[in-house]
Amino acid sequence: MNKYDSELVAGILKSAGYEAVDDIEMADIVLINTCSVREHAERRVLDKIDSYYTAKRKSPHTIIGVLGCMAERLGPKLLEMSPAVSFALGPDAYRNLPNVLELHRSGRPHTDIRIDTNTETYTDIYPSRCKGISAWIAIMRGCNNFCSYCIVPYLRGRERSRPVDDILDETRKIVNEGFKEIVLLGQNVNSYRYGDVDFPRLIERVSQIDGAERIRFATSHPKDLSPDLLRIIAGNEKICSHIHLAVQSGSNAILKAMNRNYTREHFISLITRAREIIGDPGIYTDIIVGYPGESEQDFEDTIDLVEQLRFDGVFCFKYSPREGTKAYELKDDISEEDKATRLIRLNALQKQIAFERNSKLIGSMQRILVEGPDKKRKAGHFMGRTDTNKIAIFRHKNQVSVGDMVDIRINEVSGMTLFGELI
Ligand code: SAH
Ligand code: SF4
Repeated sequence: MNKYDSELVAGILKSAGYEAVDDIEMADIVLINTCSVREHAERRVLDKIDSYYTAKRKSPHTIIGVLGCMAERLGPKLLEMSPAVSFALGPDAYRNLPNVLELHRSGRPHTDIRIDTNTETYTDIYPSRCKGISAWIAIMRGCNNFCSYCIVPYLRGRERSRPVDDILDETRKIVNEGFKEIVLLGQNVNSYRYGDVDFPRLIERVSQIDGAERIRFATSHPKDLSPDLLRIIAGNEKICSHIHLAVQSGSNAILKAMNRNYTREHFISLITRAREIIGDPGIYTDIIVGYPGESEQDFEDTIDLVEQLRFDGVFCFKYSPREGTKAYELKDDISEEDKATRLIRLNALQKQIAFERNSKLIGSMQRILVEGPDKKRKAGHFMGRTDTNKIAIFRHKNQVSVGDMVDIRINEVSGMTLFGELI
């Protein structure tokens, strides 16, 4: 979502006559888009700002702006925290950016220019996208779920869906630019609704656009991933067999405390149903370890769930208290050491499971969308993805073009990657 927002900001600046440069030393304006989901992400931003400060001292006219959730959360405080920062602009305020830059240039620095309209969907702005074959498109912004650990609803505002025609028009433009894969983005795409168009209807309509060869979406919330959507994924060649469904914990007590609104049993039945309807989709999840009060038994329940459901990938995070959330009122009572031990155990288990799942693909044929040469290996190696979102590397002596859809036979795997030969 943040990468998409950066492209959106690049689009706004391009329309206002600004030009992007590759080398930071050449830049008059440096914008840092930020994430507040975990403290670690915020700390990295502050380190980055420090390093840009050195650059700014070399050229005192350089403007450094902080965008995104950290800007929304800290606002003017950011300017106190670092003298390098010229302004902070929250996720709903990007239309104001050219104006803010002009004010700076004319020596009238604006400090707190945050706005939060809760209605902004940037409908009429076309992002300036990084080159590639895969393009992101936000179909909604904000979130209404208020999971108790999560800062997102406070910083990105209420959930709002973008008009259908606007999404379809943008998809047509994206395809004309040469992108082959469209990724529909939202904090909870399954609650997309514009008029009488819900998410299953929207994704069907996107898939009808010529040239959109693959369609993915992220992310879904387990409380409303519908059988209707699963059937559409199963019956539509263009929609990837790829589901990102965050479970967060395998313990019912912790799920309740997290305000996730589903049980472990419901989640298991969803995955079982997805596999019944789709076959063997790529299933990925997020898990938080060390939520306040997470006992050894709660964690064992998570381990048990991971063993039982055998995901293709798990993104594990240590719980990070975020001021303003419900969970922040609770004691962060799991020690850093216990959080780290749980994280390591979960990652090791998942690595083994992913390897075993990938091993079953040895000898199979997989269709790959080619993303480009594989930079880590010798010439003649290319990299792409399966529709289940697995990275695949293959060798071929002739040139293969980026954006080609090719069939490869898998002959070797690791937990992360499939290796094969072009058929
Ligand atoms: N809307 C998405 C998640 C967006 S945030 C969804 O619900 O699926 C991405 C992930 O960050 C979450 O799934 C969660 O696992 C993690 N996360 C969010 N807040 C966190 C916190 N306070 N500490 C640690 N991890 C957190
Ligand atoms: Fe955060 Fe929950 Fe919304 Fe995802 S669904 S963004 S975890 S509040």
